[in-house]
Amino acid sequence: MATRKILFLICTVFCFLAPSQTQTSARDMDQIRGAMEFLASDALQGRGSGTHDELLAATYLASQLRQIGIEPAGDGGGYLQNVAGEFNFYREGKKQWNTRNVIGVLHGSDAKLKDEVVLLTAHLDHVGLQTAVNGDNIYNGADDDASGCVAVLQFARALAQKQAPRRTVLFVFFGSEETGGQGNQYFLEHPPVPLKNIVANLEFEMIGRADSAVKPDELWLTGYDRSNLGPELAKHGAKLVADPHPRQNFFQRSDNYALARQGVVAQTVSSFGLHPDYHRPSDDVAHIDFAHMEQAIHSMIGPVEWLANSDFKPEWLEGKKP
Ligand SMILES: [Zn+2]
Repeated sequence: MATRKILFLICTVFCFLAPSQTQTSARDMDQIRGAMEFLASDALQGRGSGTHDELLAATYLASQLRQIGIEPAGDGGGYLQNVAGEFNFYREGKKQWNTRNVIGVLHGSDAKLKDEVVLLTAHLDHVGLQTAVNGDNIYNGADDDASGCVAVLQFARALAQKQAPRRTVLFVFFGSEETGGQGNQYFLEHPPVPLKNIVANLEFEMIGRADSAVKPDELWLTGYDRSNLGPELAKHGAKLVADPHPRQNFFQRSDNYALARQGVVAQTVSSFGLHPDYHRPSDDVAHIDFAHMEQAIHSMIGPVEWLANSDFKPEWLEGKKP
């Protein structure tokens, strides 16, 4: 009897539990690799801001949201938000521009909390075709920011598989971040929900490689000491620490900043270790550390689910609102 019981236990642990856990992780890894190998492929020619290649990336992300079961929240019942008009640029001032954002929504299930929105974002463009380095002129942007886009897709997948969260979750991929955030400017002028309803924005930027300035399994949050969002996420399992590169001003260097300027608690999650492939053709799939990336995404799923189900409203700390 005892022997049988032990055999049964051994079988339960090794024949059922272990393989199914391995399969889940292998499937996550395949989803991550599959999406990265398309978005950062040479076929997309670096997803240049405002180009047809950027539109291909947007269309792919929209198609993925549909497959995952996230509802469209863009123009005319679709996922794409067409961004057209005159926009601010870094050096050239104002210019006519056309880009697209991709917007999906998972409606909250709680009568009171469903009007509160958690916004998960990444930017879908990169710098496109530029001066060749060692004969390669395609700036693939695998880390920057295909990795962030894939993270947002994986959060969508995780949330869509479960009972709808109490709060509403918006999944947004911004176009033309690299040229100054034109997609983001338009989004702020034409938000799919009132901006005051957005309780938090987490932007994901460059999580495809580990940062040696923090522990191997850690991610950092820009403006960590500006709000109580990072510490609260860390309390709920996120491996989040303060940005170890304050002199780089990363808090101001992504799409979160324009939202923060509008009052939204908006911060960027990253593990960018200032690697030399940044904005070079060598920021490609071959340089992605998939084990790190999978672990990074996995480590944020629980905390993101907690935020989407809690009634905790993050706040800027006194005098730290940008
Ligand atoms: Zn970026």
